[in-house]
Amino acid sequence: MKFSFKILLCMMTVIALALGFSGYYFVNYVFETSLEREIGQSLDESSILGFALETAALNVPTNYSALPDNTIDEIAANLEASGQQKRLLRISDEQKQILYVSDGFLEDKHLLAETGADVKSYRVARAGGKHYVHAVTAVNARNRILYLETMRDVSEVFTERTMGFSLYRRVTLLMLLVGLLLMYVMTSFLTKPMRILTRATKQMAAGDYAYRANQVSQDELGELTTDFNAMAEALERNVGALEREVAAKEEFMGAFAHELKTPLTAIIGYADTLRSQSMDEEKQLMAANYIYTEGKRLEAMSLRLLDIIVAGSQEVHLQRIAAELIFDYLKEMFSGRTDVKIQFAFDAGIVCAEPNLIKTVLVNLIDNACKASEPGGSIEVEGRAAEDGYQFSVRDYGIGIPREEQQKITKAFYMVDKSRARRQNGAGLGLALCAEILKIHGSELVIESEEKKGSCFCFFLKDRAAKCN
Ligand code: ADP
Repeated sequence: MKFSFKILLCMMTVIALALGFSGYYFVNYVFETSLEREIGQSLDESSILGFALETAALNVPTNYSALPDNTIDEIAANLEASGQQKRLLRISDEQKQILYVSDGFLEDKHLLAETGADVKSYRVARAGGKHYVHAVTAVNARNRILYLETMRDVSEVFTERTMGFSLYRRVTLLMLLVGLLLMYVMTSFLTKPMRILTRATKQMAAGDYAYRANQVSQDELGELTTDFNAMAEALERNVGALEREVAAKEEFMGAFAHELKTPLTAIIGYADTLRSQSMDEEKQLMAANYIYTEGKRLEAMSLRLLDIIVAGSQEVHLQRIAAELIFDYLKEMFSGRTDVKIQFAFDAGIVCAEPNLIKTVLVNLIDNACKASEPGGSIEVEGRAAEDGYQFSVRDYGIGIPREEQQKITKAFYMVDKSRARRQNGAGLGLALCAEILKIHGSELVIESEEKKGSCFCFFLKDRAAKCN
């Protein structure tokens, strides 16, 4: 069952119960008040008639010591006819023997039997489809105790109650119908955000992550819509990132397979020639040499790949290391290079990094700068201390990198000039490793380059005092 119908059902039940109980209470209250008033009037009438009977008895001539029965008959007949309508009454003597009874008076004598000489009593009785207040009062009439019973028709009060209930039932039904209509409109309005959210959820489940729910209220459901949209935003972002990651992995696998294929084809080809053909020693040496070089290239490539994987998965242990120590290492490392002029300039300072990894980055960058430079070209390696960290830069004045390639060169296996890179024993993995290492240091490579003018690769290592040992 739909939620809006459930709300509707609950509300209608509450309204029906409220109207039912209040209607019953109201009609019954009116009925009981009217009946009490009728009983009061009945008892008053009974007292007045009793008084009239006593007075009439006193007016009877005194030559009777006690009131004779036929005189009582006469008085009763007068009392019966004294009202606007004919009264119903019954008079009994001390032994509760009936002396006079009006036509149509109740035959039941229980109330009379229960009533003593000094009490008044009454009951509401039903006879011949009508309701009466039956009252008994004892009267002292000239030394005789007489019991005067009266009957007052109160059927109208009961009819009014029945009519009240019937009217209230109809009003309740009408109000329920009108209420049903109004509630339907209201619940539809109130549950609109839920319908919108359901639609949005279905759209997202179908893969439309860009779909957003329209916020139509400012209440809790409106808040839920905002949260839902925030969740959708995060989901879209994460799915996008995952998709990009998958695409990058596919691209990586494709490039990897390609890079593997070229040396392997050469190795297999030369090995096959060696085993199937007889050739002179010089050619044999050349083939073996080719197999060796390509094998070495494969080995270097697999070691680089391993480095990248290890760098990506490893938790970096940052240390505070003097910049001087890093530059001393670099100077010694490249001291044998005479084809280019490498100049080192640095500020004294503390670098917050994993020393070996940062040295690997700098060695790769300097190596690339050397490869990009003409013989005799100059390379500047600088270290600048800043307030919140340390900045490294490697500048060369070599071939430079075209603008459209600059974003791609940190991807694994990407080489701007493949044949040149292969000639220089490159596999397009050095910058990918650098980017991975800098990523775990919370940094990134910034590349400035102009074709035929040179390039500058720099990165900034923040002084993360809390994380550094
Ligand atoms: P490789 O092993 O080929 O050097 P890298 O990932 O280090 O791989 O570099 C990727 C490519 O970026 C290189 O093949 C080269 O084309 C280009 N490159 C890197 N550094 C420089 C530079 N300083 N000047 C010009 N091109 C560069």
